[in-house]
Amino acid sequence: MFHCDVPDTAMVQEDTPQELDCQQDDASETSSPMATAEHIATAEDPPLGSPQNSIAAPPILEELAGARIFLDICSGSGHPLTTSFLRKKCICVSVDKLICSSMDLLDNIFFDSLLRLCSSGIVGYGAAAPNCGDYSRLKLRPGGPRAIRTPTQLDGVPNLSAEERERIQVSHELVCRCILCLELIFSAGGHIHIEQPTNSMAWLEPIMQHLIKFAATYLVYFPACAFDRDWQKSWLLACSYPGLKPLGRICQHPPDSHEAIAGVRFSDGTFKSRITAEYPPAMCDAISDVVSPLLSQHGPLQLSVLSAAGLIPQKGLHDLPVSH
Ligand SMILES: [Zn+2]
Repeated sequence: MFHCDVPDTAMVQEDTPQELDCQQDDASETSSPMATAEHIATAEDPPLGSPQNSIAAPPILEELAGARIFLDICSGSGHPLTTSFLRKKCICVSVDKLICSSMDLLDNIFFDSLLRLCSSGIVGYGAAAPNCGDYSRLKLRPGGPRAIRTPTQLDGVPNLSAEERERIQVSHELVCRCILCLELIFSAGGHIHIEQPTNSMAWLEPIMQHLIKFAATYLVYFPACAFDRDWQKSWLLACSYPGLKPLGRICQHPPDSHEAIAGVRFSDGTFKSRITAEYPPAMCDAISDVVSPLLSQHGPLQLSVLSAAGLIPQKGLHDLPVSH
């Protein structure tokens, strides 16, 4: 269980798959979201009767109402960015279908609850990293899987099969929904970033261009070699918070200094780029060092979307309208 006085090391075991109790996000959930942290048990719960359980009382979410939280959309199954923010004692919500199948951005009921959280004003920082698989330029190289879109045909090349057409729609819709969440967070007073590999064609999507103008984002370049990874790979963050600008790096090494990732396959045929999808811990820590002061540090606490809704302050009957 994530509660305030559990040591950090118990909170963020990177090698242990963390399971949010995502039943909380089930539409059939009937209990009040104004729940205690007991509702967000994870696979890392200490066993009953352990010293941690015997001395630690779970925090009451109502007492944390209005806290500024970190929302990690498409966090990846290992949610490395969330893990880093938890080390900074932040309150975090990780969203990814890989963590729990019910956290599906394309599920309208789940997405509706996510939109409410994004527009509530309690998200101090929102990050999104939609899967770039069908936006990757790697597929434009000879010998790779068939490219279903190109920079000039973002809506799909001609003569797609039904399955390929669906992949075009799903990948585009995921980007659109991530951006809608980020625009709501930014409108409600939070800072945001969206991340894609530098060579992702998603940067060319009109809705991505709109986000970049809407939030007047800075484009910060993270080469892997600057963060303890000897890979020919880089990530690009479009971020609204100027404090992240100094984190930008340039690879100063000669050409071909780093291990080639693009288009390289393992002996079983899978692409090496898959294992490089997760951010290096050093990169996550650099980001959380800068961003965590924007957030409430009453954790570490990891909540589901529905549990986090319990942190949204409730307006009194005679309170004035709120404008962000
Ligand atoms: Zn380098």
